[in-house]
Amino acid sequence: MSGPRFRLRRWLRRHHPLKHRQGPRDPRGSEASVGTTGEVERVRRQYLESEQRFRALLESLPRVAVQGYDRDRRVIYWNEASTRLYGYAPEEAQGQLLEELIIPEPMREPVILAHRAWVEQGVEIPADELELQHKSGERVPVFSHHVMLNEHTDTPLMFCVDVDLSDQKRAHRELDFARRFDHLTHLPNRETFEAQLDEAIAECRRRDAGLVLIYLDVDHFVEINDAFGYEQGDRLLIELTRRLHQATRASDLMSRISSDEFVIAFPGFQREDVLTQLVHKVQQVLRAPFLIDGSWRLVTACLGLSLCPDNGDTARELIRNADVAKNRAKLDGRGSVWFFDQQLHDELLHQHRLVDRLEQALDKDELSLHYQPQVSAVSGRIESLEALLRWQPAEGPPISPAVFIPLAERSDLIHRLGDWVMEAACRQRALWREAGLAIERIDINFSGRQMSRPDVFQRFEDCLARHGLGPRHIGLELTENVLIEADDRILEGLRRLHEQGFRIAIDDFGTGYSSLSYLKHFPVTALKIDRTFVRDAPDQPEDRAIMEAAIFIGHRLGLEVVAEGVETLEQLTLIREMRCDLVQGFYLFRPMPALEMERVLGGLVAGSPGGSG
Ligand code: C2E
Ligand code: MG
Ligand code: MG
Repeated sequence: MSGPRFRLRRWLRRHHPLKHRQGPRDPRGSEASVGTTGEVERVRRQYLESEQRFRALLESLPRVAVQGYDRDRRVIYWNEASTRLYGYAPEEAQGQLLEELIIPEPMREPVILAHRAWVEQGVEIPADELELQHKSGERVPVFSHHVMLNEHTDTPLMFCVDVDLSDQKRAHRELDFARRFDHLTHLPNRETFEAQLDEAIAECRRRDAGLVLIYLDVDHFVEINDAFGYEQGDRLLIELTRRLHQATRASDLMSRISSDEFVIAFPGFQREDVLTQLVHKVQQVLRAPFLIDGSWRLVTACLGLSLCPDNGDTARELIRNADVAKNRAKLDGRGSVWFFDQQLHDELLHQHRLVDRLEQALDKDELSLHYQPQVSAVSGRIESLEALLRWQPAEGPPISPAVFIPLAERSDLIHRLGDWVMEAACRQRALWREAGLAIERIDINFSGRQMSRPDVFQRFEDCLARHGLGPRHIGLELTENVLIEADDRILEGLRRLHEQGFRIAIDDFGTGYSSLSYLKHFPVTALKIDRTFVRDAPDQPEDRAIMEAAIFIGHRLGLEVVAEGVETLEQLTLIREMRCDLVQGFYLFRPMPALEMERVLGGLVAGSPGGSG
């Protein structure tokens, strides 16, 4: 340390600002001071103090590394920050050559030449961002500033003032990463992926090859998040990414495009038969269960595929079309796969518009309820009515609930529709009671999505209470699948209604899972055998056998059995022979508006125009 300190002091003595300020600028001082020992001592003390302050300053700058080099570029000064930045202690650095100490190999020659040019010709080395070398060999990013003191003398000293840029560089790198990659999976984000995909498409075009894009959407991911928390959801996504990496090649591209949606591009695709292999490969990734919240659980995903060039030749187009295909797959339920085609795209667009129109229809009074009687098979008496929703747009033909109910189910619109139906049916039932019409019950259809609403039972009960109605007045119809997929909350709610005496019917019986053993677990009062069995029963022994079995089991379980869709006398006769309790169908009554229903109810309470005896 004595070397640098000594030289620095000598340099300070020569260059200290105080020295210049003396003399001509302070004539009084110069005259007065010359020759007096006391005065010399005072100035010397001042120099010393000043040097100390200067040294203290250099030493105390934690991030500013200052090094001094002599004419031969040997270290004469090395502050603590230099030790921190480059790893050498002052005594190690002392006397070493600049280029051998912290200059990386390729820069050595240019540094020596630049230093020489400055010393000999006064060509300054400009300040610059550099990557110098740590003792460990690692690169150190710095902003380096150079000062030459004692220029034009025999003892020029170069001081380097280096500011450590590691933190800034790291922050910059992190920022750049966050801008281009997904923080959770570290996959490229949509923007980065699109750029990569466009490049891959161009490369495929050059090689006259195709590209397959697979859009993957995890099924019911929201439920995983809701049930087990975001952390578990995140873990699942990370594990899924790991598996996808494992299943794909380095040349394949991948991105997480939104929370649970991934896209994977397979460039260089040549033959159609590879398609199924690729789909299989991606599906295989989900074959093994995932560890979620301590248990192994199966996770499924829907896949949508688009091909380049057939379904688009830009990244945007391919992603959008694979997304369309994926959305179509979603409609088919868990684990489905769809390929994009233009017809599919148009169909989805059409459906989307229809949902928009349906939403407006609710406000524009285009909806109404029709009623279809359910008639006793024995007496022909109208026992109850089923409320069926009708949509007559202001312009154009009526639209069937078989078309718009499933569409509404895919959005929250089904809840508004359901509320509307409940309210309209209850209001009608209350009106008919006041009018003294001989009708007991109106049955309302509930769809699966409607039941998933947490307050569905509360709304139902509130609606009935508003109109002063009870279990005798309003019944419910649910399809088999709704019951089978029902969670404990729904089953509990239904059980409560059942205990209160509400009639709960399984609609379209025989078209769903059709596992009869389920029947005993569900709180139901009636089975409505689907009209396809009724239609085919006269000619198809199998359908007849199924009907007979359903009626038999229904009765053994104490359930009322209804035959839907009776269109002919032949069907009606057969159903009567089978001892079905109720019949419903065009042969007896078509669904009709409330006014017409009133006329029927007012005119004939027993019997029907369909010829029941
Ligand atoms: P669903 O509940 O099984 O209703 C019976 C369907 O069969 C009705 O069709 C009815 O018009 C029709 N139908 C009745 N008798 C016959 C017949 O003899 N032959 C033939 N071929 N068909 C007959 P609609 O009104 O078109 O309703 C279709 C489906 O839409 C309903 O099937 C039900 O699932 C749903 N739906 C209707 N209204 C509502 C509603 O208010 N809410 C909910 N969630 N769904 C509804
Ligand atoms: Mg029904
Ligand atoms: Mg039905």
